[in-house]
Amino acid sequence: MSTIAFLNIPMHGHVNPTLPVVAELVRRGHTVTYHTSPAFSKEIEATGATVCLYPGGDQPLPDPPMPLTMLDGLAQTAVGLLPGVLSELRGVRPDLIVHGSACLWGAVAARELGLPAASLFTTFAFNRYVPSPTRASWELLAAAATRPRNALNYLRSRRRLRRRYNTRGLPFLDLANVRQPINLVFTSRAFQPGVGTFNESYQFVGPSIGARPHDPSFPAGRLQAPVLYASLGTVFNAGPQVLRNFATALAPLGGTVIISTGETDPAALDPLPDNVIARRFVPQPDVLARAALFVTHGGMNSVNEAMYAGVPMLVVPQGADQPFVARRVVELGAGLSIRTRDATAGRVNALARRLLDEPRFRAAAEGLQVAQREAGGYLRAADELEHYLHRVSGPAPADSPQER
Ligand code: UDP
Repeated sequence: MSTIAFLNIPMHGHVNPTLPVVAELVRRGHTVTYHTSPAFSKEIEATGATVCLYPGGDQPLPDPPMPLTMLDGLAQTAVGLLPGVLSELRGVRPDLIVHGSACLWGAVAARELGLPAASLFTTFAFNRYVPSPTRASWELLAAAATRPRNALNYLRSRRRLRRRYNTRGLPFLDLANVRQPINLVFTSRAFQPGVGTFNESYQFVGPSIGARPHDPSFPAGRLQAPVLYASLGTVFNAGPQVLRNFATALAPLGGTVIISTGETDPAALDPLPDNVIARRFVPQPDVLARAALFVTHGGMNSVNEAMYAGVPMLVVPQGADQPFVARRVVELGAGLSIRTRDATAGRVNALARRLLDEPRFRAAAEGLQVAQREAGGYLRAADELEHYLHRVSGPAPADSPQER
């Protein structure tokens, strides 16, 4: 059995798909450590992994969340965390490091300690078909011109990292796309654009959806079909008006309408129609399992989870990779897309009505559901990591599920 160290950036979209993989590795007898911040320690502990906390408590997300501020944040964080993380990992003595594709310090730690590493992509895998948000681009250059402090800080942090650590082969800019000899992508080959252009280091394992901690406060027993669900995720804050528009648009079409408000106080949406439940956070996979329609920002996890449940989508992208995700959903016929500024209650109602009334959307979503489930999910991800460990270190585990 091996010791595997997970390192990740503490964001729901990055951590969620790793949880079932970690639980499975623990179930198979491996020792797993997971570096994270306090907000995630309970969920990670529940997988059976040993939680290693980043110092300094929970840190705010880059504000505003855009590629340049993210680059600045990631590089600064790497400088700050690496001394502590490295000394902990020297104590843990892992056989393998598994890090998120934007977790720069995970990749640096692997190089410093001379360990094999795997990278996890919770969005698409990136190349010319899906450009990474942090690639060199005119947009990034323009952002650097308007936010020179972020640009300068980034360059300083990268210089510090280069002086102190082995950063050879790491991308200079494209920190959302840190690759390793094995790259696990949490979507299906069917959903990845240009899938044929990725070599075999990329394994499209599909959405990794496992049991999440039960939320007894969620009124699951009160939901009436059709359940219509809207969420703009956990990072972007579109404000109460757009969420209120969703509620007004969906209430006449739904049995129960559920709005996940994220950063917005649910009280800011009042008064709401009687059949609308607004909460900051809902048990999304459970809600999707019963939903007829999902109005989503197009976060990759949300879309993967919706396809896994075969639910058609109205995608209202907020930023990051979401416009690409929206385009792909529309291209594959599993939904429609609208810009936030066009998302009036009337427009959302009209599009939602089409999504509910025209069977082709549900049919396309169900086609993708098959692809998403066949990709293998967390069991396949655990298999791939074990096979990689075997390749780099020793004999194969006797009873991995793909070999039974
Ligand atoms: N999520 C949830 N309940 C909510 C809102 C979000 O469980 O009320 C989960 C969702 O299931 C997904 C993650 O949070 O796994 C959001 O990730 P995504 O990539 O979709 O968007 P982000 O929040 O990173 O923008």
